[in-house]
Amino acid sequence: MTERHSGRAIETSGPPESEAGGMVSIDLSALVANWRELGSRAAPAECAAVVKADGYGCGIAPVSAALATAGCKTFFVADLAEARSVRRVVPAAAVYVLNGLAPGTAAALAEADLRPVLGSLSELAEWEEFRAGTGWRGGAALHVDTGMNRLGLAPEQAAEVAGRNAPKADIVLLMSHFACAEEPSHPLNARQMAEFREVRALFPGVPGSLANSSGIFLGPDAHHDLVRPGVGLYGANPTPGHLNLMRAVVRLEARVVQVREVPAGETVGYGASWTAQRATRLAILAVGYADGLPRAASASDTKPGAEAIIAGRRCPLAGGISMDLLAVDVTDLPEDIPRRGDFAALLDEEIGVDELASHAGTIAYEILTRLGRRYRRVYVG
Ligand SMILES: *Cc1c(COP(=O)(O)O)cnc(C)c1O
Repeated sequence: MTERHSGRAIETSGPPESEAGGMVSIDLSALVANWRELGSRAAPAECAAVVKADGYGCGIAPVSAALATAGCKTFFVADLAEARSVRRVVPAAAVYVLNGLAPGTAAALAEADLRPVLGSLSELAEWEEFRAGTGWRGGAALHVDTGMNRLGLAPEQAAEVAGRNAPKADIVLLMSHFACAEEPSHPLNARQMAEFREVRALFPGVPGSLANSSGIFLGPDAHHDLVRPGVGLYGANPTPGHLNLMRAVVRLEARVVQVREVPAGETVGYGASWTAQRATRLAILAVGYADGLPRAASASDTKPGAEAIIAGRRCPLAGGISMDLLAVDVTDLPEDIPRRGDFAALLDEEIGVDELASHAGTIAYEILTRLGRRYRRVYVG
């Protein structure tokens, strides 16, 4: 297994290689390199890491541990369970819970020294009440909505909080979130940056955070004191339409179950939606939609699908993606390639998560966070 990768395998899970239908390898050195690259573009702002949704499908514990070792001091997750997972491997970092304070969970947050991202006046009130009643001194972030209309106080509500004589919650971070950062020319970006600047003026001395991965590329006005990249860390392109500056983190390989011939005119797979235009050789791979490969990336007579790389060559999918299998057209490969038991790459340095996503009409985030659970998983780097 390890000879396939430059880095050293540091942790594996799932079935042994001989039994695995699919293998995912996560390159932690590439992850760290991406974090450093994003950080250097945001400097002198601090670079945090967003590790929600199991580290975007890459494994919250190994991802958080690798980033902490590289010097990351601030982590963002979606909920309390994820926050505890980070805390277990990173004892000293600041860990923020983006979905805020769920009712009745303040004590549990304090117990693990976690910080809620307070997103409404009622969350703020509950947090203040908990602090007043227990003497807990841990901080929190205040999320102000500048145009996303999802979570966060309205700017007028934030102004009201700032105008109180003594805010009882120790707000250690003022936060907002871009709606369209991957589209630099979208007018909402400038509006959100202006709105956030105004809100920050109400909280002098409180550090601010606005930018996600793509937001970092909107320039210094977007950086403030702390940037919060997620998807770029895991290799997705934060600057769509431009060269991807991120290194590939996820490698996904599928085993060849068998190689078979199909005469011209025959159809392949459920729904008979793909017709062999010539005598065709197919490799049947042991991964499917149950492993997170979206059915929308299937190939049909009217639409090409995703591609796999075998022996360094791109091979197109043939027919629909089944639950546990898919077919690849290998007619153009040398006759003895591939063989039963070989592996084909569906994600690697050449086929990135953005490309697979585009074949399925979705985004890299969805590909990453749906990576299946029955793979053999290997961490390298
Ligand atoms: C998910 C998330 C991020 C990270 O966004 P990416 O686009 O993955 O870099 C940052 N901030 C908030 C509030 C988020 O929900």
